[in-house]
Amino acid sequence: MTEIPDRLVEIMKRSSKIAALTGAGISAESGIPTFRGAGGLWEGYPVEKVATVEGFYENPELVWKFYNERRINISKARPNRAHKALAEMEKMYDMWVITQNIDGLHTMAGSNNVIELHGNIWRVRCTYCDYHGENMEVPLREIPPKCPKCGEILRPDVVWFGEPVHMMDLAFKIAEESEVFFVIGTSAKVHPAASLPFIAKNNGATVVEINIERTDVSIIADFILLGRATMILDSLLQKLKEA
Ligand code: NAD
Ligand code: ZN
Repeated sequence: MTEIPDRLVEIMKRSSKIAALTGAGISAESGIPTFRGAGGLWEGYPVEKVATVEGFYENPELVWKFYNERRINISKARPNRAHKALAEMEKMYDMWVITQNIDGLHTMAGSNNVIELHGNIWRVRCTYCDYHGENMEVPLREIPPKCPKCGEILRPDVVWFGEPVHMMDLAFKIAEESEVFFVIGTSAKVHPAASLPFIAKNNGATVVEINIERTDVSIIADFILLGRATMILDSLLQKLKEA
Protein backbone atom coordinates (compact mmCIF):
# COMPACT_ATOMS: atom_id res chain seq x y z
CA MET A 1 0.00 0.00 0.00
CA THR A 2 1.21 3.49 -0.81
CA GLU A 3 2.43 5.29 2.29
CA ILE A 4 1.53 8.96 2.65
CA PRO A 5 4.87 10.79 2.97
CA ASP A 6 5.28 12.72 6.27
CA ARG A 7 6.74 15.58 4.27
CA LEU A 8 3.43 15.99 2.39
CA VAL A 9 1.49 16.04 5.66
CA GLU A 10 3.87 18.74 6.98
CA ILE A 11 3.38 20.86 3.86
CA MET A 12 -0.38 20.49 4.12
CA LYS A 13 -0.32 21.44 7.79
CA ARG A 14 1.13 24.84 6.95
CA SER A 15 -1.00 25.45 3.84
CA SER A 16 -4.41 27.01 3.62
CA LYS A 17 -5.27 27.10 -0.09
CA ILE A 18 -5.76 23.68 -1.62
CA ALA A 19 -7.19 22.64 -4.97
CA ALA A 20 -7.88 19.32 -6.66
CA LEU A 21 -8.26 18.70 -10.37
CA THR A 22 -10.23 15.49 -10.79
CA GLY A 23 -11.06 13.27 -13.75
CA ALA A 24 -12.96 10.13 -14.61
CA GLY A 25 -10.62 8.00 -12.43
CA ILE A 26 -12.07 9.42 -9.19
CA SER A 27 -15.50 8.10 -10.16
CA ALA A 28 -14.24 4.74 -11.45
CA GLU A 29 -14.71 3.18 -8.00
CA SER A 30 -18.30 4.42 -8.03
CA GLY A 31 -18.87 2.23 -11.08
CA ILE A 32 -18.64 4.87 -13.81
CA PRO A 33 -16.31 3.78 -16.62
CA THR A 34 -13.34 5.99 -17.51
CA PHE A 35 -12.81 7.15 -21.03
CA ARG A 36 -9.31 6.29 -22.27
CA GLY A 37 -8.11 2.98 -23.52
CA ALA A 38 -11.37 2.17 -25.25
CA GLY A 39 -9.81 2.26 -28.72
CA GLY A 40 -11.61 5.40 -29.95
CA LEU A 41 -14.89 4.04 -28.62
CA TRP A 42 -16.72 5.49 -25.65
CA GLU A 43 -18.92 2.83 -24.10
CA GLY A 44 -19.24 1.31 -27.56
CA TYR A 45 -19.86 4.55 -29.45
CA PRO A 46 -17.35 6.34 -31.75
CA VAL A 47 -16.19 9.41 -29.80
CA GLU A 48 -16.54 11.84 -32.71
CA LYS A 49 -20.20 10.84 -33.19
CA VAL A 50 -21.30 11.31 -29.58
CA ALA A 51 -19.00 13.97 -28.13
CA THR A 52 -18.85 16.70 -30.78
CA VAL A 53 -21.34 19.36 -31.94
CA GLU A 54 -21.02 18.05 -35.51
CA GLY A 55 -21.93 14.54 -34.34
CA PHE A 56 -24.91 15.93 -32.43
CA TYR A 57 -26.40 17.80 -35.39
CA GLU A 58 -25.77 14.85 -37.68
CA ASN A 59 -27.65 12.47 -35.39
CA PRO A 60 -29.20 13.91 -32.22
CA GLU A 61 -31.09 10.65 -31.55
CA LEU A 62 -27.85 8.65 -31.36
CA VAL A 63 -26.20 11.21 -29.07
CA TRP A 64 -29.23 11.28 -26.77
CA LYS A 65 -29.34 7.47 -26.76
CA PHE A 66 -25.70 7.50 -25.59
CA TYR A 67 -26.43 10.11 -22.90
CA ASN A 68 -29.56 8.25 -21.85
CA GLU A 69 -27.40 5.16 -21.18
CA ARG A 70 -24.84 7.23 -19.28
CA ARG A 71 -27.65 8.78 -17.23
CA ILE A 72 -28.98 5.35 -16.31
CA ASN A 73 -25.50 4.29 -15.18
CA ILE A 74 -24.66 7.53 -13.36
CA SER A 75 -28.03 7.59 -11.58
CA LYS A 76 -27.02 4.32 -9.86
CA ALA A 77 -23.62 5.65 -8.79
CA ARG A 78 -22.95 7.05 -5.32
CA PRO A 79 -20.01 9.20 -4.18
CA ASN A 80 -17.11 7.05 -2.99
CA ARG A 81 -14.58 7.62 -0.20
CA ALA A 82 -12.38 9.73 -2.48
CA HIS A 83 -15.19 12.21 -3.24
CA LYS A 84 -16.06 12.23 0.46
CA ALA A 85 -12.48 12.82 1.60
CA LEU A 86 -12.28 15.91 -0.63
CA ALA A 87 -15.58 17.15 0.82
CA GLU A 88 -14.11 16.66 4.33
CA MET A 89 -11.01 18.62 3.35
CA GLU A 90 -13.23 21.57 2.42
CA LYS A 91 -13.95 21.90 6.15
CA MET A 92 -10.23 22.17 6.90
CA TYR A 93 -9.01 24.35 4.02
CA ASP A 94 -9.83 27.11 1.60
CA MET A 95 -10.51 24.38 -0.91
CA TRP A 96 -11.73 24.05 -4.50
CA VAL A 97 -12.48 20.99 -6.58
CA ILE A 98 -12.06 21.51 -10.31
CA THR A 99 -13.56 18.52 -12.07
CA GLN A 100 -13.73 17.28 -15.64
CA ASN A 101 -16.49 14.90 -14.62
CA ILE A 102 -20.10 15.53 -15.47
CA ASP A 103 -21.54 13.06 -12.96
CA GLY A 104 -22.23 15.52 -10.13
CA LEU A 105 -20.71 13.19 -7.50
CA HIS A 106 -18.50 15.83 -5.85
CA THR A 107 -21.53 17.94 -5.03
CA MET A 108 -23.44 14.87 -3.89
CA ALA A 109 -20.52 14.04 -1.58
CA GLY A 110 -20.88 17.45 0.09
CA SER A 111 -18.31 19.65 -1.68
CA ASN A 112 -19.59 23.19 -2.16
CA ASN A 113 -16.72 24.78 -4.04
CA VAL A 114 -16.90 22.77 -7.24
CA ILE A 115 -16.12 23.90 -10.77
CA GLU A 116 -17.61 21.55 -13.35
CA LEU A 117 -15.41 22.38 -16.33
CA HIS A 118 -17.29 20.05 -18.65
CA GLY A 119 -20.82 20.73 -17.43
CA ASN A 120 -23.26 18.33 -15.82
CA ILE A 121 -25.16 15.41 -17.27
CA TRP A 122 -28.36 16.41 -15.45
CA ARG A 123 -28.49 19.82 -17.12
CA VAL A 124 -29.90 20.56 -20.57
CA ARG A 125 -30.05 23.60 -22.82
CA CYS A 126 -31.97 24.53 -25.92
CA THR A 127 -30.30 24.43 -29.35
CA TYR A 128 -32.50 27.35 -30.44
CA CYS A 129 -33.57 29.67 -27.61
CA ASP A 130 -31.93 30.69 -24.32
CA TYR A 131 -33.61 27.94 -22.23
CA HIS A 132 -31.34 26.27 -19.63
CA GLY A 133 -32.60 23.81 -17.09
CA GLU A 134 -32.33 20.61 -15.14
CA ASN A 135 -33.68 17.33 -16.46
CA MET A 136 -33.48 14.39 -14.06
CA GLU A 137 -35.51 11.87 -16.12
CA VAL A 138 -34.06 8.35 -16.05
CA PRO A 139 -34.65 7.02 -18.61
CA LEU A 140 -35.59 10.00 -20.75
CA ARG A 141 -39.29 10.08 -21.67
CA GLU A 142 -38.59 11.40 -25.15
CA ILE A 143 -35.46 11.12 -27.34
CA PRO A 144 -34.41 13.74 -28.23
CA PRO A 145 -36.05 15.80 -25.45
CA LYS A 146 -37.76 19.03 -26.54
CA CYS A 147 -37.50 22.55 -25.16
CA PRO A 148 -40.42 23.42 -22.82
CA LYS A 149 -40.19 27.03 -24.01
CA CYS A 150 -39.96 26.79 -27.81
CA GLY A 151 -40.31 23.09 -28.71
CA GLU A 152 -36.91 22.77 -30.42
CA ILE A 153 -34.41 20.01 -29.60
CA LEU A 154 -32.55 20.23 -26.29
CA ARG A 155 -28.89 19.24 -25.96
CA PRO A 156 -27.00 17.99 -22.90
CA ASP A 157 -25.37 20.96 -21.13
CA VAL A 158 -21.97 19.29 -21.31
CA VAL A 159 -18.81 20.40 -23.06
CA TRP A 160 -17.91 18.44 -26.18
CA PHE A 161 -14.57 18.27 -27.98
CA GLY A 162 -13.77 21.65 -29.51
CA GLU A 163 -16.16 23.59 -27.25
CA PRO A 164 -15.03 26.09 -24.60
CA VAL A 165 -14.95 24.76 -21.05
CA HIS A 166 -16.93 26.43 -18.25
CA MET A 167 -15.46 28.80 -15.66
CA MET A 168 -11.90 28.44 -16.92
CA ASP A 169 -10.89 31.94 -15.73
CA LEU A 170 -11.75 31.02 -12.15
CA ALA A 171 -9.98 27.66 -12.57
CA PHE A 172 -6.80 29.44 -13.75
CA LYS A 173 -6.99 31.82 -10.79
CA ILE A 174 -7.38 28.95 -8.32
CA ALA A 175 -4.45 27.09 -9.91
CA GLU A 176 -2.29 30.21 -9.61
CA GLU A 177 -3.16 30.80 -5.98
CA SER A 178 -3.18 27.29 -4.55
CA GLU A 179 -0.38 26.12 -2.28
CA VAL A 180 -1.05 22.42 -2.78
CA PHE A 181 -2.55 21.24 -6.06
CA PHE A 182 -3.83 17.67 -6.34
CA VAL A 183 -4.31 15.93 -9.69
CA ILE A 184 -6.55 12.93 -9.14
CA GLY A 185 -7.69 10.24 -11.57
CA THR A 186 -7.11 12.14 -14.76
CA SER A 187 -4.99 11.13 -17.73
CA ALA A 188 -4.39 14.89 -18.13
CA LYS A 189 -4.69 14.74 -21.89
CA VAL A 190 -7.74 16.95 -22.39
CA HIS A 191 -6.79 20.65 -22.60
CA PRO A 192 -7.14 23.28 -21.25
CA ALA A 193 -7.82 21.39 -17.97
CA ALA A 194 -4.53 19.52 -18.38
CA SER A 195 -2.59 22.81 -18.22
CA LEU A 196 -3.83 23.63 -14.71
CA PRO A 197 -1.24 21.51 -12.81
CA PHE A 198 1.54 23.18 -14.83
CA ILE A 199 0.18 26.64 -13.99
CA ALA A 200 -0.03 25.70 -10.32
CA LYS A 201 3.55 24.40 -10.37
CA ASN A 202 4.86 27.55 -12.09
CA ASN A 203 3.24 29.61 -9.36
CA GLY A 204 4.95 27.68 -6.59
CA ALA A 205 2.36 25.06 -5.65
CA THR A 206 3.29 21.61 -4.41
CA VAL A 207 1.79 19.29 -7.02
CA VAL A 208 0.48 15.93 -5.81
CA GLU A 209 -0.60 13.31 -8.30
CA ILE A 210 -2.93 10.48 -7.29
CA ASN A 211 -3.46 7.87 -9.99
CA ILE A 212 -3.12 4.14 -10.56
CA GLU A 213 -0.45 4.89 -13.18
CA ARG A 214 1.91 7.64 -14.22
CA THR A 215 0.68 10.38 -16.56
CA ASP A 216 2.03 13.44 -18.37
CA VAL A 217 1.73 15.34 -15.08
CA SER A 218 4.11 12.97 -13.28
CA ILE A 219 7.22 14.80 -14.51
CA ILE A 220 6.29 17.96 -12.59
CA ALA A 221 4.67 16.27 -9.58
CA ASP A 222 6.38 16.78 -6.21
CA PHE A 223 4.62 13.67 -4.93
CA ILE A 224 3.31 10.79 -7.03
CA LEU A 225 0.99 8.59 -5.00
CA LEU A 226 0.27 5.50 -7.05
CA GLY A 227 -2.86 3.62 -6.13
CA ARG A 228 -6.63 3.86 -5.97
CA ALA A 229 -7.98 7.31 -5.19
CA THR A 230 -10.23 6.01 -2.37
CA MET A 231 -7.39 4.29 -0.52
CA ILE A 232 -4.94 7.16 -0.85
CA LEU A 233 -7.31 9.98 0.03
CA ASP A 234 -8.63 8.00 2.98
CA SER A 235 -5.10 7.51 4.35
CA LEU A 236 -4.20 11.13 3.69
CA LEU A 237 -7.27 12.40 5.50
CA GLN A 238 -6.53 10.11 8.42
CA LYS A 239 -2.96 11.40 8.64
CA LEU A 240 -4.07 15.02 8.47
CA LYS A 241 -6.50 14.47 11.32
CA GLU A 242 -3.82 12.76 13.44
CA ALA A 243 -1.08 15.30 12.72
P1 NAD B 1 -9.56 9.46 -18.51
O1 NAD B 1 -10.54 8.35 -18.68
O2 NAD B 1 -8.81 9.96 -19.68
O3 NAD B 1 -8.47 9.03 -17.43
C1 NAD B 1 -8.82 8.38 -16.25
C2 NAD B 1 -7.59 8.34 -15.36
O4 NAD B 1 -7.96 7.81 -14.11
C3 NAD B 1 -6.47 7.47 -15.90
O5 NAD B 1 -5.25 8.19 -15.80
C4 NAD B 1 -6.47 6.25 -14.95
O6 NAD B 1 -5.17 5.73 -14.76
C5 NAD B 1 -7.01 6.86 -13.68
N1 NAD B 1 -7.71 5.95 -12.77
C6 NAD B 1 -8.55 4.93 -13.07
N2 NAD B 1 -9.06 4.37 -11.97
C7 NAD B 1 -8.52 5.05 -10.91
C8 NAD B 1 -8.66 4.95 -9.49
N3 NAD B 1 -9.47 4.03 -8.92
N4 NAD B 1 -7.96 5.81 -8.71
C9 NAD B 1 -7.14 6.74 -9.28
N5 NAD B 1 -6.98 6.89 -10.61
C10 NAD B 1 -7.66 6.06 -11.42
O7 NAD B 1 -10.36 10.61 -17.80
P2 NAD B 1 -10.19 12.18 -17.84
O8 NAD B 1 -8.77 12.55 -17.70
O9 NAD B 1 -11.19 12.70 -16.88
O10 NAD B 1 -10.62 12.64 -19.30
C11 NAD B 1 -11.71 12.05 -19.97
C12 NAD B 1 -12.81 12.99 -20.42
O11 NAD B 1 -14.03 12.23 -20.40
C13 NAD B 1 -13.07 14.15 -19.53
O12 NAD B 1 -13.30 15.23 -20.38
C14 NAD B 1 -14.37 13.85 -18.77
O13 NAD B 1 -15.26 14.94 -18.84
C15 NAD B 1 -15.01 12.74 -19.54
N6 NAD B 1 -15.56 11.62 -18.68
C16 NAD B 1 -16.28 11.88 -17.54
C17 NAD B 1 -16.76 10.83 -16.73
C18 NAD B 1 -17.56 11.15 -15.48
O14 NAD B 1 -18.24 12.17 -15.41
N7 NAD B 1 -17.47 10.30 -14.44
C19 NAD B 1 -16.50 9.51 -17.11
C20 NAD B 1 -15.78 9.27 -18.29
C21 NAD B 1 -15.30 10.35 -19.06
ZN1 ZN C 1 -36.01 26.57 -26.73
